[in-house]
Amino acid sequence: MIKIEHIGIAVKDMDVSCSIYEQLLGTACYKKEQVASEGVNTAFFKTGENKIELLTATTAESPIAKFLEKKGEGIHHIAFDVPDIVAEMDRLKAAGFVLLNEQPKKGADNKLVCFVHPKGTNGVLVELCQEIK
Ligand code: ZN
Repeated sequence: MIKIEHIGIAVKDMDVSCSIYEQLLGTACYKKEQVASEGVNTAFFKTGENKIELLTATTAESPIAKFLEKKGEGIHHIAFDVPDIVAEMDRLKAAGFVLLNEQPKKGADNKLVCFVHPKGTNGVLVELCQEIK
């Protein structure tokens, strides 16, 4: 894994949270994107090398809706930049980690993504992401 690509934060109200993070980071959101397959709306912020992704649910079945219900707002996942997502998925599977999707899928911000089950990572949902060239 190359580096932390972004940190995902689950929020209830995107407009409210966007202004909070614009004030906090001193920079405007640079991208808003809906990922229909995941039932989420996303907003991205850049601070230097680092990115923050805000996530809200668009449907009651969305994983974000379930997360908010169970845990409330807060850090939802840590995403790592990987050069070859398939190779990384194979490596983690062989090491005994449980992947939440068997094939890489299209995520927000022009990425192929795969999630690693938090039960194998001390309660942290991990996202692998590879830039789509
Ligand atoms: Zn993410």
